[in-house]
Amino acid sequence: MRPSFLPRLINDPLSDPGMFVPFLFEKRALLFDLGDIHSLPPKELLKISHVFVSHTHMDHFVGFDTLLRIFLGREKELHIFGPKGFFRHIEGKLSGYTWNLVSEYENNFSLKVTELNKTSILTRTYNSKNDFQPEKGVKEAPFSGALLKEPAFQVEAAILDHRIPCLGFSLTENFYVNIIKEELKRLGLGIGPWINQFKNALYENRDPESIFAITHADGDAEGKERIFTLGELTGQIARISPGQKVTYITDVVGSPQNREKIIALAKNSDHLFIEAAFMDCDQKTAKKKYHLTAGQAGRLAKEAGVKQLTVFHFSPRYSHGPEEISKEAIKAFITP
Ligand SMILES: [Zn+2]
Repeated sequence: MRPSFLPRLINDPLSDPGMFVPFLFEKRALLFDLGDIHSLPPKELLKISHVFVSHTHMDHFVGFDTLLRIFLGREKELHIFGPKGFFRHIEGKLSGYTWNLVSEYENNFSLKVTELNKTSILTRTYNSKNDFQPEKGVKEAPFSGALLKEPAFQVEAAILDHRIPCLGFSLTENFYVNIIKEELKRLGLGIGPWINQFKNALYENRDPESIFAITHADGDAEGKERIFTLGELTGQIARISPGQKVTYITDVVGSPQNREKIIALAKNSDHLFIEAAFMDCDQKTAKKKYHLTAGQAGRLAKEAGVKQLTVFHFSPRYSHGPEEISKEAIKAFITP
C-alpha cells in the first residue's frame, strides 16, 4: 500500500509535541498541536490547511504566532480546531497585537476557528480584512465523533481528561487509490490534473456508469479527448486499497475513562503517536501531573491493536537517556 500522507513528529521527543502530516500528491498538510514549530520551514508551514490543537497549555499552542505571522498578508484560509474555551484563547492571542493596518492589505487571511464542546461543534470566523474581529454568528453543528469530513479522509476526536478537556485525534483515509503507471502508458494517457479529479470522483462514490472525459490539456498524449465510464477507467488504471489510519494522543492521565476512549479512537490504527511523559517507576508523578507512563502508552497501543507505535513528549528529567522510555513502551506493546 502506498499511503497518500506521511505523518511525522515535528520535534525530538524531549521538545514540544506536534505531528505534521504532509500529503504526498497535493501541496497540503495537516498539523496536530501547535507548540514550537520552528523546525518546519515556511514552505512546509504554508501547506497547512487545518490545525488540530489538543489543548492550550503553552507547549501545545505557543506556535500560533509563528503560523499567523507566515499566513498574514496572503489570500488564505486556515482552519484551527481546539477544545472548549478555544475561541477565548484565540481571541486572547489576537488581541495581543495591533491590527489597525491589516484591513488595507490586498489579501484577506481568514481564520476559521472551531471549538469542540461535549455535544456540539462551534465555528467562528476571524478575517484580517476586519481587523480579526469575530464575524457575527457562530455556526453550530452536532458532534458525533467526526470533526472534519472530506471525500478522501476524516478526522475524529475524543474529549480526554488532562484535568482540563484535552482532545485526542484520529485521521482516517477512506481508501487509497493507486494509479498504475504502466496502464496509463498503455492507454496513451499522461499525468495531469485529471488524476486528482478521477480520485475525487471515486471518493465521492460517483456512479461507475457516469462519464469521465480526459482532454488533451488534461493529459491525453495524442491530443484527443478520451471518454471512459468511471468504472471502466477504474478497472484499467487503478488499484484500490484500504486507507491508513493515524492516531495522535497526548497529555492524558491513565484513568479507566481515558483508556476506554483512547482504545476506541485508536482502534486498528496503522500508526499510533502517543505521549509517554514518564517511566513506569515514576507512575505517581505521572498521575499527579495527568500524564501517561511509557508502560501505559504501550499497553494502550496493544489493546487498540495498532500496527506501529511512536512515543513522544518525554519529561525533561529523562534527558540523559530518553531511549529507555521508548524501550519500556515497546516492551509493554509487544508483551502478549
Ligand atoms: Zn504538554
